[in-house]
Amino acid sequence: MVDIAELQRIVGQDWIITQREQMESYLRDETVLAERPAAADNVVVVKPASTEEISSILKLANRKRTRVYPRGGGTGLVAGAVPTQDGIVLSLERLDRVEEVDKENLMVVVQAGVTLADLLKAVEAEDLLFPPHPGDEGAQVGGMVACNAGGTRALKYGVVRNYVKGLEVVLPTGEIVNMGGKLLKNNTGLDLMHLLIDSEGILGIITKVIFRLYPRFASTATLVISWDDRHAAIGTVPKILQSGVIPLALEYVERDAIEVSAEYLGLKWPPARGTAHLIIIVTGSSEDDVYSQCQQISNVCQEHGAVDTLIAERKEEQAEILKIRSEMFSALKSRIADALDIAVPPAEVANFMDAIDRVAERYDTSIVTYGHAGDGNLHPHLMVDLQQRGILEQVKEEIFREGAKFGGVITAEHGIGKTRLPQLDMMLDDKSKELMKGIKKLFDPNNILNPGCAIV
Ligand SMILES: Cc1cc2nc3c(=O)[nH]c(=O)nc-3n(C[C@H](O)[C@H](O)[C@H](O)COP(=O)(O)OP(=O)(O)OC[C@H]3O[C@@H](n4cnc5c(N)ncnc54)[C@H](O)[C@@H]3O)c2cc1C
Repeated sequence: MVDIAELQRIVGQDWIITQREQMESYLRDETVLAERPAAADNVVVVKPASTEEISSILKLANRKRTRVYPRGGGTGLVAGAVPTQDGIVLSLERLDRVEEVDKENLMVVVQAGVTLADLLKAVEAEDLLFPPHPGDEGAQVGGMVACNAGGTRALKYGVVRNYVKGLEVVLPTGEIVNMGGKLLKNNTGLDLMHLLIDSEGILGIITKVIFRLYPRFASTATLVISWDDRHAAIGTVPKILQSGVIPLALEYVERDAIEVSAEYLGLKWPPARGTAHLIIIVTGSSEDDVYSQCQQISNVCQEHGAVDTLIAERKEEQAEILKIRSEMFSALKSRIADALDIAVPPAEVANFMDAIDRVAERYDTSIVTYGHAGDGNLHPHLMVDLQQRGILEQVKEEIFREGAKFGGVITAEHGIGKTRLPQLDMMLDDKSKELMKGIKKLFDPNNILNPGCAIV
């Protein structure tokens, strides 16, 4: 049972929602409708203002065995923040302060409820760069760390994990623990901080983060290179990387799907030719540096059968291409029953896509696939017809099995959350599962924090 009177005492009357009709937006995330689990009936939403209040809430919840669901921006795609059992939704939205942009150490200290949009604004105002960019800027810092978010820029700069240098965490038992600091090297004891990164809200509530920053890039350009043949397009990816250029982003899209997004936005997809495209973002220390990287990429692509090369240098042109790419999920969402998030070794991307095509043919459906080709991370979209025909789960499992044959995994960046739990056994051996459950028990002896998520 949720002790509402005691919660009110901790956070104040104005910061609790108990009426169902006022909390609807806290009961879901961005998981596609067909896959999103229903929220439990008896839920209250609590909005603490400080780490100390969160500590008091968790001490109370642990004593009363009340379940607690940490919630960031609610942009997750695997229902991680959805309260599937009675309990408390703990929203981090009021911990929204950028505490310090430390130019000397190239670090930023932020409360967990700061959104990606506000983080970028604060950092860029100081002419600095926070490199990772998962697609929705409404995501909060705590959610990005809890999910170890990736995004298009991971190819050159890596995922969020690479930037976390310190964390403040409230444990399910209420203790406040600090991990790491403004340090580039730290080998002190076991690395609990990296255990918390990607823990999907099951080990502790992240309340503050220290991120490493970089100087802003001086110049950027975006190329869209087109082929008439998927294998030729994807086969060129390793050749580009072997040539010595590491682009900021290297995305694979097909004309049919990206034109849906362009139309959804009332824009036109710029390339006139080709059915298979690589979108490549290049960054550098000067315009000359960027120009020479573009030339190098363009030469490699011409040698490997590209039929068209478009180089966008103006900011607006680049932004438009990126917008069309970023909105693909939103444009297709109403037709999607599930959007998968599979990683395979980068050199297997084209073979894996062929395997997906064979599954689509076997089940007489179309599977739209695009993604972060340079990272080997694809997002095959399964359409609603599969759900209507009652074969969605079967097709999904077949694609997961095909991915596993190439040495792949069932999630690259979105996480397991609540929607991928049924397939976790395909990926983990018994000993790994036992170790993970043991760690969960150590942090959360009464299993109050986000049960039914990530591992059990
Ligand atoms: C259009 C769109 C594009 C996207 N593109 C990408 C992409 O390119 N790459 C990518 O990786 N992801 C992407 N995502 C997914 C999503 O944005 C990320 O997973 C993001 O990190 C989630 O952050 P959030 O604050 O919204 O978390 P939420 O959805 O609120 O929560 C996600 C999980 O984190 C836990 N959590 C949240 N805050 C905390 C906290 N403070 N402490 C402990 N646990 C917490 C929750 O309990 C839950 O399990 C995209 C989503 C959308 C809608």
